[in-house]
Amino acid sequence: MSELIITDLHCEVGEKEILRGVNLTVRSGEVHIIMGPNGCGKSTLAHALTGRPGYRVTGGSATLDGVELLTLDPAERTRAGLFLALQQPMEVPGVRPADMLVAAGAPRGNVESAIAREAQAVGLRPELLERFVNVDLSGGERKRAEVVQLGVLQPRIAIFDEIDSGLDVDALGAVARRIETATREWGLGVLAITHFRRLLQELTPDVIHVMSAGRVVAEGGPELAEQLERDGYEPFRELA
Ligand code: ADP
Ligand code: MG
Repeated sequence: MSELIITDLHCEVGEKEILRGVNLTVRSGEVHIIMGPNGCGKSTLAHALTGRPGYRVTGGSATLDGVELLTLDPAERTRAGLFLALQQPMEVPGVRPADMLVAAGAPRGNVESAIAREAQAVGLRPELLERFVNVDLSGGERKRAEVVQLGVLQPRIAIFDEIDSGLDVDALGAVARRIETATREWGLGVLAITHFRRLLQELTPDVIHVMSAGRVVAEGGPELAEQLERDGYEPFRELA
């Protein structure tokens, strides 16, 4: 049983405080969804948790099974069991997926077969994963490649930043189902940022969190996503 506990997290980017006290707990097997208007700090939360340079944490804590993540470097956070699928996965010329995954902790012996298995699960041609990481892959292929990494590494907690953007309906279904299966297969805890209810049809949320201006301002079940679709974020702005 794993537990990511985020307490009163504050983060600045440039001179500006973007996260103004985020509280959130994700446990093994749970699916948490974050929704919120553009610019409210969703990606900043993901970057602060994974330790991206330029995102300055100025207060609060984030522990994974009792280990404080915020003082670790990004590679140590990965080894502690945290995984991030980026909103815009980057090209890493010169590095092959298998080598990257071994560096991140996957066992060398079966990494190739694990990649092939996971590529099939999300409908990605395996030869695309023999190229350098993400080089010449389309946006949708990159998103699926992130989920392949997830299946190979089997982290304790995974953060998905708009994994559904740029995916066609078939790819979206495959990706959502793979993540859902992971919650049962090895008890993955999920924190997924999305704008769309479509993702939630196959990835059943336990809790939906609404962010506004750097804080979580509302929490609820799937009915909250319906309300957002109907009324937009306006009713939540004054809560921030
Ligand atoms: P969201 O993902 O919710 O759309 P972000 O977390 O990406 O929002 O951004 C929150 C705010 O922080 C925005 O005003 C954005 O312009 C600013 N911001 C994010 N990253 C950077 C950066 N690297 N440099 C400057 N400003 C940034
Ligand atoms: Mg974002």
